[in-house]
Amino acid sequence: MKITIVGGGFGGVKAALELSKDKKNHITLINDKTDFQYYPGLYGTATGKSHLQSWVPLGEIFAGRDNILVVIDSIQKINKKEKTLTGESGAKYHYTTLILALGSVTTYFGIKGLDQYAFGIKSAAEIKRLKQHLFDEFSQPQTADTNFLIVGAGPTGVELASSLGTYLHKLKKHFNKPEPHIKITIIEAAPRVLPRMSEAASKIVHARLKKLGVHIELNKKVEEQTVDSLIVSGQPIKSQTVIWTSGVANNPFFTANADQFTFSKNNKVIVDKYLRESEHVYVIGDNAFTPFSGLAQTALRDGIFVAAHLSGKSKKKYVAKMPPIVVPVGENWAIFEYKKIRLSGNSASVIRSAADFVGYSDLLPFGQALGVWHAQRIYEDDYFPIGK
Ligand SMILES: Cc1cc2nc3c(=O)[nH]c(=O)nc-3n(C[C@H](O)[C@H](O)[C@H](O)COP(=O)(O)OP(=O)(O)OC[C@H]3O[C@@H](n4cnc5c(N)ncnc54)[C@H](O)[C@@H]3O)c2cc1C
Repeated sequence: MKITIVGGGFGGVKAALELSKDKKNHITLINDKTDFQYYPGLYGTATGKSHLQSWVPLGEIFAGRDNILVVIDSIQKINKKEKTLTGESGAKYHYTTLILALGSVTTYFGIKGLDQYAFGIKSAAEIKRLKQHLFDEFSQPQTADTNFLIVGAGPTGVELASSLGTYLHKLKKHFNKPEPHIKITIIEAAPRVLPRMSEAASKIVHARLKKLGVHIELNKKVEEQTVDSLIVSGQPIKSQTVIWTSGVANNPFFTANADQFTFSKNNKVIVDKYLRESEHVYVIGDNAFTPFSGLAQTALRDGIFVAAHLSGKSKKKYVAKMPPIVVPVGENWAIFEYKKIRLSGNSASVIRSAADFVGYSDLLPFGQALGVWHAQRIYEDDYFPIGK
């Protein structure tokens, strides 16, 4: 069977790996970059840990899988009648069966200035830009920025805020910067941190962040960013470092091809009980309108489900499953929630570490997964000039 997959992220890579087990399958995976990005590791790389945990070349993941062809191109158009895709390169790709797994993108909700001045932590390029900025701030003779603003108190904002302090203090020490005092603030429009977790979990994490010295501004609306300030609920806050972790939207590929798809209210693609959008087109992961779309574990499950369905191994309907949520909040501390079970502290941090290992081994051979997982504990000093 010939299968084309667009998107080399959690869903696309997992589907390709599963489908490649049957040597009769020929898989073409089209991705817009050469690397797979392990998003849950990005905040760690942004705050000094090894980049090996955050991006892995697709070539390494598919090594020895002769029936997977990786093509680097950004798909712009689909014509379901002709069964073709058109890439940014101008190339046209014919498909027989198609899996779309293009993931989400950052959205600034049209807030002025953010696209120009804010930093993001959603890709290797964004991490490199942020680290370069922090390096410039601390390595140059003038006074460094003192006010670090993180917009969004979802898992990414909380993870980043809780590890940024340690990293900035390292930079300060390394470059012999005397005071001033570093202030890290999370700004959130909702009335509590981690608004998608239980209220009890929010309270525990709020207290933990305070203990780590993070300032928390709730019920606050970001209105604009200028070259040196963020305007929050009418008040300007001076800062050169605003990190936007809020707001994700469905991949713009779908709106650009809106006549080919049916959408839910939140702009995700409506799929049937087999994750099919139409007879030959499957949509999985963040792109599909399923109850737990937006999580890596859902995308992985979707990839496995579609591969089993296509191979005829399973005729079962798709059943959405709520995955456990584990959010790290500083070194050796995390919050874990699954149904009525809630854990916090070191035990939850061990669960998170185990979950990361499971995540890597879902995509990589055991030895390689172990190496990448171990990289989570390594501070980087060759890629970024700390320690030189
Ligand atoms: C910073 C961050 C931290 C996160 N932490 C967690 C976490 O701890 N736990 C959790 O469960 N979830 C987490 N998530 C969410 C999780 O990463 C996503 O739900 C998951 O990646 C979705 O998988 P996917 O396969 O749908 O898309 P992705 O993994 O995003 O993969 C999409 C792929 O498609 C490529 N692509 C995009 N457009 C095109 C195009 N036009 N043509 C070709 N290729 C294209 C992209 O480059 C990418 O490689 C996090 C997300 C972010 C941003």
